Amino acid sequence: AQERYTSIRNKPAETLCGTIIDLHMNAGLMADLPSLENSGAEGVGLFRTELQFLIRNKMPQRAELSELYARVIDAAHGKHVVFRTLDIGSDKVLPYMKVIEEPNPALGWRAIRIAMDRPGVLRMQVQALLRAAAGRPLSVMFPFIAQREEFTAARAEIDKALEREHILGHPVPIELKIGAMLETPSLAFAPDSFYDEVDFLSIGGNDLKQFFFAADRENELVRRRYDTLNVSFLTFLEQIVARCDASNTPLSFCGEDAGRPIEAACFAAIGLRAMSMRPASIGPVKSILRRTDLTELRDVIHQASADGLQSVRPRVMDYLREKL
Ligand code: PEP
Ligand code: MG
Repeated sequence: AQERYTSIRNKPAETLCGTIIDLHMNAGLMADLPSLENSGAEGVGLFRTELQFLIRNKMPQRAELSELYARVIDAAHGKHVVFRTLDIGSDKVLPYMKVIEEPNPALGWRAIRIAMDRPGVLRMQVQALLRAAAGRPLSVMFPFIAQREEFTAARAEIDKALEREHILGHPVPIELKIGAMLETPSLAFAPDSFYDEVDFLSIGGNDLKQFFFAADRENELVRRRYDTLNVSFLTFLEQIVARCDASNTPLSFCGEDAGRPIEAACFAAIGLRAMSMRPASIGPVKSILRRTDLTELRDVIHQASADGLQSVRPRVMDYLREKL
């Protein structure tokens, strides 16, 4: 399927109205990195770091992780990689961690919450990242931030680790960007100071949507019940875009929906300018974006919303069928 898109692989995702959308890829393994070249992605917008923890039967060592992260950065050949710190708990349980029975694991002790309560692992991972990226740029993002204080505390761990590297006389990254995943609705309402404090935000649509509709992303009975192109959800995303625009905070979208062409076109129409998706989706998404006039599509979305539709999908499909 990738071959169908080779002719546009090295072309930008430039829409008919001249807007360029940055398309990045999601990754989690060394083996994913060659796709950076094959897919034509601009960089890795989300490197999930869980796998290296999940495939072992004991906690990985700092040196091992640092070596792996350095190889990932090498294999990106100067393209940008955003490393997400460990996102465990809920559906991702480490075999060597005591299992804690929770009535609602998706709402429970997971991701940054574990990292704050047991900071040893985060510290180790942050050191590994700083060492891997010494002399090169580094982007780190924290998962599942629900309020500003969590971000401030997590960021402080990076500052402390940097300080330590300086004292030890180790080289450090030449540029460091620290961001957060926006995957709990509360962050959309965080104070302005949060938006000023983060270097970038990335919408984790999988989690954000599950919490927005209160519909478990793992539960077959409800996971497809609510359309991503539901007017309420798109309006919510539009508000997030507006806040980020107002504070000049770079924003991207890295949930699975970014890899679905119709959804991706609608996200671009409501103002998202960067998305990260599985490599095989880059071609199809770029292809639709290059044939779409975002201003027109935005009008279709807003009209559907003004007309009281629950989902904009039928109107968007009609419009795209006519145009493409
Ligand atoms: C998300 O929640 O959309 C996301 C990208 O993270 P994960 O799927 O790993 O939870
Ligand atoms: Mg998530």
